Amino acid sequence: MITFQSPRPEKGGTCSERTKHGLISMVIHEVGHSWFPMIVNSDEQRWRWMNEGLNSFVQFLAEREWAEACPSRLQQSNGKRNMFTYMKRNDIRPIMFAADNLISGSHNAYGKPTLALTILQESILGREQFDFAFKQYANRWKFKRPTPFDFFRTMAMSPVEGNSRKRPESDHGCRKRVLR
Ligand SMILES: [Zn+2]
Repeated sequence: MITFQSPRPEKGGTCSERTKHGLISMVIHEVGHSWFPMIVNSDEQRWRWMNEGLNSFVQFLAEREWAEACPSRLQQSNGKRNMFTYMKRNDIRPIMFAADNLISGSHNAYGKPTLALTILQESILGREQFDFAFKQYANRWKFKRPTPFDFFRTMAMSPVEGNSRKRPESDHGCRKRVLR
């Protein structure tokens, strides 16, 4: 894998802890793109969050699993502060907005969907239901070109066997919760 992104080590090959974590995060993120959008192929020009947002969420899961070696930026105080500052702006756009017209695309396409998916996983569906549905989506749509509505439908309609939790009544209900 070749990437030209920062952060970078010093000339002698040394780096700070912050740079090291940034490098690990960047590698996790870029490897994740081999699935979103290279296998589950979304239209990034129309729905940037389906590429960067889903991949950033998967990156966040990997960082959470590996927290000591790679603390997630989203969980650090400056990451949270940046997101809160962004969410309070009056000119933010919904994530369902053409990529060319996004304002603050990194927050809109990366951080906001990651936050929304985390809330969906932790507070709305629960980990078991969410993880099952998310895997269903990733498998059902591999080597295809899903739209956001395919994602919403899969997330809303994937039951966990034996789970008595009430599922969202429709993809519309799930979509409304994800996009708020
Ligand atoms: Zn990316």
